[in-house]
Amino acid sequence: MSEFSPQLNEDQITLQKWVHDFAEDVIRPAAQEWDEREETPWPIIEQAAEIGLYSWEFMAELMMNDPTGLSMPVALEELFWGDAGIGMSLMGSGLAVAGIAAAGTKEQIFEWVPQCYGTPGDVKLGAFAASEPDAGSDVSAYRARAVYDEASDEWVINGTKTWISNGGIANVHVVVAVVDPALGSKGQASFIVPPDTPGLSQGQKFSKHGIRASHTAEVILDDVRVPGSCLLGGKEKLDERLARVREGKPGNSQAAMQTFEATRPAVAAQAIGIARAAYEYSLEYAKERVAFGRPIIMNQSIAFMLADMATEIDAARLLTYRSAWMGKHRAFTHAEGSMAKLKAGRVAVWATERAMQILGGYGYVTDYPVERWHRDAKIYDIFEGTEQIQQLVISRAISGLRIE
Ligand SMILES: Cc1cc2nc3c(=O)[nH]c(=O)nc-3n(C[C@H](O)[C@H](O)[C@H](O)COP(=O)(O)OP(=O)(O)OC[C@H]3O[C@@H](n4cnc5c(N)ncnc54)[C@H](O)[C@@H]3O)c2cc1C
Repeated sequence: MSEFSPQLNEDQITLQKWVHDFAEDVIRPAAQEWDEREETPWPIIEQAAEIGLYSWEFMAELMMNDPTGLSMPVALEELFWGDAGIGMSLMGSGLAVAGIAAAGTKEQIFEWVPQCYGTPGDVKLGAFAASEPDAGSDVSAYRARAVYDEASDEWVINGTKTWISNGGIANVHVVVAVVDPALGSKGQASFIVPPDTPGLSQGQKFSKHGIRASHTAEVILDDVRVPGSCLLGGKEKLDERLARVREGKPGNSQAAMQTFEATRPAVAAQAIGIARAAYEYSLEYAKERVAFGRPIIMNQSIAFMLADMATEIDAARLLTYRSAWMGKHRAFTHAEGSMAKLKAGRVAVWATERAMQILGGYGYVTDYPVERWHRDAKIYDIFEGTEQIQQLVISRAISGLRIE
């Protein structure tokens, strides 16, 4: 196992510049328009597909061909520096990919991951549908039900999913459903719902505080029938797992925990991208804006805010790189992925608020991007495990106790 180093290699520096250029030239100039439209920015996704940035091959490269684990956070920080709403539109499919990769067989991964992206000229989206109206953080409370119909070798899925990124407009939906209600969170499985499957429809589309260029909606599952082959991991493996749980044998919760921890640095990097955008913008502004006859940065109260922002962003990035490396090596000791996500979300919310303060009135109006960055940042305290859920995971990991 290599040693952890936050030093980027040459390939990662090239990657960083490539994504940054796209974020600066294509995403930034379009950010305000798509925030106002509150719609999926299809033309930008198309442009990203044309250069290979929105593609399953790029995602596979980041996930599989990087022994350091740092390429994913490096790329995502730049993308979300451009704009988080557009960034989420480009990365929402990645959530579906993570769901397929976590539970699927090799054949299922090869069959479905490319269909989450489509091809240049015919781009598609993927969606990962777990959350429900009465079950967000409490994943043991999901009610969407999948029942096996032996006669037709099909699964029949019923339920309502909510807050789903790309929900209802995706080509491929990965849906988490209960297969044995008696077993709580251990009685669930993930299913592929292929394109145009009857019974899957979009419910309410939500109007949001931030990341408004990313589509978020309910997904209604009404007698959705999918072939047996759409159960991720396959029936034999599911039956074995359920039998083990019923016998009271230890399940694979440790493996699941490691998987969640491994995806958290990617989310943390997105938040850092927003924080850095706000920091860089407010630093430049503070050097130019004159009040009382001198640039406002000449006041310690402003300069020290910027000093704190730089420090906090670097701290969040170092936690993120460390946890990304640990994720690659399955080397977590006390929920370091959750630590990175917790810290990065808080830093993004705090730094974007400080940036608004530095811009004064200009920070509060939509002609300037800083208020948008602040709206965008807040989601990082909420999705992919709330602030409190990260604290729960960390406190259990450091104490060895079942903290409630
Ligand atoms: C824009 C957006 C996009 C999303 N995208 C997706 C997606 O693509 N797929 C998907 O499946 N889901 C998605 N979600 C759902 C998201 O993951 C949930 O909103 C999140 O997990 C929180 O669940 P909840 O909203 O039900 O809040 P709740 O779980 O009801 O939590 C409410 C509050 O109570 C706190 N709380 C809950 N339990 C505890 C506890 N045990 N201890 C301490 N505090 C607690 C929480 O921290 C929070 O502050 C998305 C949400 C949003 C807003």
